[in-house]
Amino acid sequence: MKEAKEYGEYYAPEIETMPREKLEELQLKRLKWQVKRCYEGSEFYRERFDKIGLKPEDIKTLDDIVKIPPVTKDELREEQLNHPPFGRFVVAPREDWRELHPSTGTTGIPVNTIWTQRDIENITEWTARTLWTFGVRPGDIIQNSFSYGLWVAGMSCHYGAERIGCFVLPIGATMTERQIEYFQRPGSTVLLATPSYALYLAEKLRQKGISPEQIPLRIGCFGGEAGAEVPASRKKIEEGLGIDCYDYYGLAEIGPTCASECREKAGIHWVEDHILVEVVNKDTGQRCAPGEIGVLVLTHLTKEATPMLRYWTNDYARLTFEKCACGRTHARSPGGILGRADDMIIYKGENFYPIQVEKVVRSFAELGDEYRIRLTTHERTGADVVTVVAEYVKEEAKTEEFKNRLKRALREELAVTPEVEIVEPGTLERTEFKAKRIEDRRKKEIL
Ligand SMILES: [Zn+2]
Repeated sequence: MKEAKEYGEYYAPEIETMPREKLEELQLKRLKWQVKRCYEGSEFYRERFDKIGLKPEDIKTLDDIVKIPPVTKDELREEQLNHPPFGRFVVAPREDWRELHPSTGTTGIPVNTIWTQRDIENITEWTARTLWTFGVRPGDIIQNSFSYGLWVAGMSCHYGAERIGCFVLPIGATMTERQIEYFQRPGSTVLLATPSYALYLAEKLRQKGISPEQIPLRIGCFGGEAGAEVPASRKKIEEGLGIDCYDYYGLAEIGPTCASECREKAGIHWVEDHILVEVVNKDTGQRCAPGEIGVLVLTHLTKEATPMLRYWTNDYARLTFEKCACGRTHARSPGGILGRADDMIIYKGENFYPIQVEKVVRSFAELGDEYRIRLTTHERTGADVVTVVAEYVKEEAKTEEFKNRLKRALREELAVTPEVEIVEPGTLERTEFKAKRIEDRRKKEIL
């Protein structure tokens, strides 16, 4: 068998290193095709265009895309309610539908997305490409611990890894004991999971007294929730599993595994031939300058069944179009996803994201990996109280002196000081899927 390093750097060199001018030409051609078929084939889109007097032929350049109003998740939900079960944004004919993948729907009803055969083919190709980007090669043993079934990442990684020529262990996010066994026999070389599950597996490995050097695992890529982009979490995963850790991004409405880091770890590379990426100001909707932080707005260039024209993701990122040191020309988001608007916490006039708390908690060796952000209501004043709950791994974390140190570090990061509570190791529940780290116990006003 060939060694991983004997294979070339790129999966699809002609696409991945395409000069930007040519790439943009391809994007424009595909955008025009998509806009036209959405206008002609979807009443949902046609109504939105007609309302502002916009015609498909008004989209003459890539920049013209800003004329199209962004579509939000709430609008898609409303559309599904009014036109059940799938809404009128399904453009492909019924006989072309192959798979249903609703969003996880942590808040509100899930948005249904559908894949046609051609959608599956495109997703398979781009996932093979993103897997290759962070180092997967033929012959690798892939422990696919992303959830299978309705969730998008399990299926796409399965298809993509098979396409490359890997041996796939389709275990999903279950059977932790078996996961540890597979690390040893047959000896998985690549782990795909959520970052919380990766940390959980690392903890189990440690408890069993198996050192990371005893298992052949060499790389892992983690997505589905925040984590792998946080340096302190990345370090914990790398040390706990003895691997090189990479960051992955995708979402049900747009598609799974559509942006991943390369070996330079200089941001997540987008599959720009399939998805048009914009970053816009959250209040004005104006396009941000390269490097500026804003909301990710994504447009499907090739999706057949449920195409999204300017989908407002609620995720924050920045964008750079500079060619990466790896030679890829596709745009990158340095630092990955910088915040998810749905998770934003407003406290004492400041706003922050759970990911910032994670960064602080995991930078302390005295604390465990797990944490919670508890929101409560102050008995007397009725004001919100935010408490960061973490587990100690070293006794000194229980001292007042340590708690004050932790509070100062949190203040530095969040610009506001939460309360802190240190609990026994193992108190906070570990999850095998997406971790829910915000506990909202506030007294809600009933109107
Ligand atoms: Zn790169």
